[in-house]
Amino acid sequence: MTITPLMPVYPRCGVRPVRGDHCHLIGEDGTRYLDFASGIAVNLLGHSNAHLIGTIQQQAANLMHVSNLYGSPQGEAIAQRLVDLTFADTVFFTNSGAEAVECAIKTARAYHSAGGNPERYELITFNNAFHGRTMATISASDQEKMHKGFLPLLPGFKYAPFDDLAAAEALIGPNTAGFLVEPIQGEGGIRDASPEFMTGLRALADKHGLLLILDEVQCGVARTGSFYAYEQYGVTPDILATAKGIGGGFPLGACLATENAARGMVFGTHGSTYGGNPLAMAAAGAVLDVVANEAFLANVRATGARLRARLEQFIGNYPDLFELVRGRGLMLGIKLRIEPRAFVAHLRDNHQLLTVAAGDMTMRVLPPLVIDDTHIDEFLDRLSAGAASFAEQGSVP
Ligand SMILES: *Cc1c(COP(=O)(O)O)cnc(C)c1O
Repeated sequence: MTITPLMPVYPRCGVRPVRGDHCHLIGEDGTRYLDFASGIAVNLLGHSNAHLIGTIQQQAANLMHVSNLYGSPQGEAIAQRLVDLTFADTVFFTNSGAEAVECAIKTARAYHSAGGNPERYELITFNNAFHGRTMATISASDQEKMHKGFLPLLPGFKYAPFDDLAAAEALIGPNTAGFLVEPIQGEGGIRDASPEFMTGLRALADKHGLLLILDEVQCGVARTGSFYAYEQYGVTPDILATAKGIGGGFPLGACLATENAARGMVFGTHGSTYGGNPLAMAAAGAVLDVVANEAFLANVRATGARLRARLEQFIGNYPDLFELVRGRGLMLGIKLRIEPRAFVAHLRDNHQLLTVAAGDMTMRVLPPLVIDDTHIDEFLDRLSAGAASFAEQGSVP
């Protein structure tokens, strides 16, 4: 037998974390890494937040799981907080981002079906999007590398170029249910939609009776300096998928919707055994306690602006390696002039700095939202040393 006990679907690197210490990770061999990846935009509070740990510990001792057969005071409380904080009137809790998007897709189909238009099942999605790895969510993405070996796809998705309003409009037809879009593409390379694109999609949805679904799994929950990114666009969605940061490291997602958009989601239409269990709700509550207030969000914006200014100044030293910095808040990307993987690996293996590669030649910078200037200094020191040694070894064109 040559297959590994862990199904070999990930090309895992040599970093083997066994402990977290605020914004650092400690490997099996004791190596200490600066974590500007945050488990892919998940560990908003870093790795050893006392409030998050204490809340989870206490809830674990009281009650972890009961299923959705029973009333949920814990779920009601968190759903109410999300309703109060957002456009939404109602919330379905999931265990992951893909499931949150899956619920959003079902909610959109059920909306039109309940309105007597079951033929309106098609979502317009965008090139280089990432919505997860279930059959529906890979079908929602045009990325063929995720489709290979898994055909046939789920019918009902059409792909338009990202940020191209005219192309999206041209795809609207009698079967269209709505748009599904990441306001800021994460895996696609930290590409933020233009304000005109987002307001244009909203206007098209209103004009044609379509739903605007936002996938804020990566950009949501304070990451960009507002609780959700849509607030910065002045655009209100009908449905929104959230996950990653919302559990602070505990697996949790949610599908948020207006009352109107959720009209088809009645008794018996959807479910999840674990979704929104008391332990997950405790984690969400602890995260919301910390991040869902203006002072915290203002700090994310200010910290993001300082980090970005430092990066923009720094990349000028290596014009053959770096092209530009983009993103919002603490969801930043550095577009390189080479494929980012080799450089990300170099920073990781030789300078103990963790970042994440993405599409469009981009290296993602996704620190915990609780970094301070000492972490920014350490990041720039490691990045600077990494760029110098990378150039020295002849890896820069
Ligand atoms: C990570 C991600 C998902 C999928 O979330 P999982 O928890 O991995 O299922 C969906 N959409 C976006 C935008 C993401 O970044």
